[in-house]
Amino acid sequence: MVAGLDEKLEPIYQEVLRRNPGETEFHQAVREVLESLGPVLVKYPEFADRKIIQLICEPERQIIFRVPWQDDKGVTQINRAFRVQFNSALGPYKGGIRFHPSVYLGIIKFLGFEQIFKNALTGMPIGGGKGGSDFDPKGRSDGEIMRFCQSMMTELYRHLGEYTDVPAGDIGVGQREIGYLFGQYKRITNRYESGVFTGKGLSWGGSRARKEATGYGTVFFTEEMFKARADALDGKTCVVSGSGNVAIYAMEKAMSLGAKVIACSDSNGVIVDKDGIDLELVKQIKEVERRRISAYAEEKKTARYLEDGNIWTVPCQVALPCATQNELNGTDAKTLIKNGVIAVAEGANMPSTPEAIRFFTEAGIAFGPGKAANAGGVATSALEMQQNASRDSWTFEHTEERLREIMVDIHRNCHQTSEEFGAPGNYVVGANIAGFVKVAGAMVA
Ligand code: GLU
Repeated sequence: MVAGLDEKLEPIYQEVLRRNPGETEFHQAVREVLESLGPVLVKYPEFADRKIIQLICEPERQIIFRVPWQDDKGVTQINRAFRVQFNSALGPYKGGIRFHPSVYLGIIKFLGFEQIFKNALTGMPIGGGKGGSDFDPKGRSDGEIMRFCQSMMTELYRHLGEYTDVPAGDIGVGQREIGYLFGQYKRITNRYESGVFTGKGLSWGGSRARKEATGYGTVFFTEEMFKARADALDGKTCVVSGSGNVAIYAMEKAMSLGAKVIACSDSNGVIVDKDGIDLELVKQIKEVERRRISAYAEEKKTARYLEDGNIWTVPCQVALPCATQNELNGTDAKTLIKNGVIAVAEGANMPSTPEAIRFFTEAGIAFGPGKAANAGGVATSALEMQQNASRDSWTFEHTEERLREIMVDIHRNCHQTSEEFGAPGNYVVGANIAGFVKVAGAMVA
């Protein structure tokens, strides 16, 4: 089912399996990168001599800690939290914090590992890291979220710093949570250190266009994939999984570039609106009211709600998985291909299974892997750090333009690298090699 590994790489992968038992998402992320690296070791033997791949697969530091907090009934709750400081060759550890009941070390390590290469591809001076907790924010009151965040930061603060480790949001962590986390950091350290967190609110050191950046960036990348094939997003039918921050702004930019978005989803179900998704309604439901996406069909009678539905059965030309890891499997990929998909770009981290990626590649679909296609979020985080360092605040237009240039550069770099290594148009190979070579070069130096 999966491609074979180069003979030099197979033992490295086996060692990763042995050292990290049960961490299946981490294994998957490592294997996907190693599958691209065979030709790199031929071109750069020093990477093998210096054991760079083995080093990159082992986090520099892993922190696991207890987070006790009181719920609204006064009952003590206990969660587990993680920060994996994976690689600092290019800059301070950088990567989001995820709150989701599925979180365990293997998920944080897969995300941290991906982040190393993604951050390298942005061209910005940021290393790779990730954090999170198995805390489930669903149904929790504002006060409970605040107490959880404050308790988490009471331990986490000692591991952070603008030159050390700079978190941001991820699934379950948006501006509200970042406010509680940053506020506690500020209180404990007695420092207004804006550069220690990104994704902040505008009035307290945040950047314009950061909220939009991951989704917009994914669509800018998609547009570049179309251009490389002498085509355009304009007029294409598009399906976007999820309805969180990434999905909402991917839909917004896709629509503004002329695509018709007809479906989105959450973990309970799918909405299909043949008239085109009413984005203001989605924003009202998700960002203001914090309700489930099923509310969309209650408000808008032209839409269908498919409880437990599979969004990938909705025929489209462009598929943007923007929900979570392994949400699009081999069967889904076959369905999409049969229904005429032309391009797939990952707004989420590792949403496509290895089998799905193989089917897309074999079918000649333009496939943008997350570490390239969703790098706009962390790239704009780096722009936020730049603004914080210079005590400046840029306009939306300027920030968005910088983001667009970065996404165009990432696309060009991945495309050129794929050609150089004999797999023209294969962005998986291009992203893995370009990201790896940059980090490995710095590690050797
Ligand atoms: N969580 C986002 C990602 O997966 C953003 C991380 C950041 O901005 O540091 O890249």
